[in-house]
Amino acid sequence: MRLILLGPPGAGKGTQAQRIVEKHGIPQLSTGDMLRAAVNAGTDVGKRAKAVMDAGKLVSDEIVIAIVSERIDQPDCANGFILDGFPRTLVQADATEAMLRAKGLGLSVVIEFRVDDDELVRRVAGRYSCAQCGSVYHDTDKVPAAEGVCDKCGSTHFKRRPDDNPETMTARLQVYYKETSPLIGYYHAKGKLRSVDGIAEIDQVTAEVENILSKL
Ligand code: AMP
Repeated sequence: MRLILLGPPGAGKGTQAQRIVEKHGIPQLSTGDMLRAAVNAGTDVGKRAKAVMDAGKLVSDEIVIAIVSERIDQPDCANGFILDGFPRTLVQADATEAMLRAKGLGLSVVIEFRVDDDELVRRVAGRYSCAQCGSVYHDTDKVPAAEGVCDKCGSTHFKRRPDDNPETMTARLQVYYKETSPLIGYYHAKGKLRSVDGIAEIDQVTAEVENILSKL
């Protein structure tokens, strides 16, 4: 199964990707996570990407395409993968198609998450994650079972993304509508697009996603 999760920041792509990982055993390839890891590790790519990410803009197609191309060659991607946050431009979408074609592979489906802007801003403003395992929480929507303790790994250290603030979120949404939303038509025309109501409860969205995957 080779999936693309498409949608604006805060739409729930990462949350649903985690659930697909657990149920289907294919890895989540989040370009945002990979770039943040590069920034934290202080690599050349990380140094080039940091200011762009902090401004809510897009890192160059060249950099992200190279990262994904290398990643999907890893053995754990042999049975499929979930692309989360990539492709984000038409250039990246064409590159994805070329990459897969070169390997004799096809794309299974693109799942678009629909959520209105006010809700996206609310979600992102309250979002934080475990500093150790990366599990994502929300101030009101998804709090750990024991206050201040990660459900998954027990860590008591949490962090917020520097770009999850209202100003940067406005820029990220503008970039999404300008650069990424054209991919909805691109994949619709290829017969690959399925859409889910991302406003619904997390479990309800998961059920919709599983329904789509069951038909592949
Ligand atoms: P995300 O975690 O998906 O919200 O991504 C965080 C930031 O990483 C974005 O605002 C971009 O600056 C950068 N980024 C992630 N994925 C891509 C991509 N496919 N193309 C360009 N920039 C990306």
